[in-house]
Amino acid sequence: MLNLVLFGPPGAGKGTQSTNLIEKYNLVHLSTGDILRGEVTAQTELGLKAKALMDAGNLVPDEVVIGMINNKLEENKNANGFIFDGFPRTTAQAEALDKLLSDKGTSINHMLALQVPDGELIKRLLLRGKDSGRADDANEEVIANRIKTYNDKTAPLINYYQNLGKYTDIEGVGTVNEIFERLTEVIG
Ligand code: ADP
Repeated sequence: MLNLVLFGPPGAGKGTQSTNLIEKYNLVHLSTGDILRGEVTAQTELGLKAKALMDAGNLVPDEVVIGMINNKLEENKNANGFIFDGFPRTTAQAEALDKLLSDKGTSINHMLALQVPDGELIKRLLLRGKDSGRADDANEEVIANRIKTYNDKTAPLINYYQNLGKYTDIEGVGTVNEIFERLTEVIG
């Protein structure tokens, strides 16, 4: 199995690159952001609770997203592997993911971290906000909170995967194709 964590701040291009990577390596894409937005649209109980947190740029509780990932792993037992996009976002999530995968006799191969400067992130997110319809892309204060949340809660995971010898950083500025090539070079 090939299990990748695609990592980086909001607006780093994780979703775009995931689309290319799942095709090349025949992987299942697990984006907690996409799953949560699906719950919001379907107006499930979970979605109704998550919406306010997401719209403010705050994280949804760990147990909620860990449960979602567990369900998706169960639903895709015969997958070639997974791309985790937007998950894990906290140390508790990373530990839970390791446990879920090891229970299934597998593990994370690489964490690929897209590096993009803050100024570029803000520009990209505001541009996306014009047609994404995402409330969290439309407002500069919310974007700033998402970047702060990333720095406070999510960036420490760099160390977590570095200690496991699984961390690689990737220059995230360039054309979509250039960045894709940089990623595939590392994955092999
Ligand atoms: P981005 O990376 O562009 O901010 P995502 O689609 O990954 O966008 O996430 C959107 C929002 O969904 C986050 O701001 C957060 O509220 C929620 N979310 C997504 N993934 C997680 C996660 N793993 N843990 C907690 N909250 C999450």
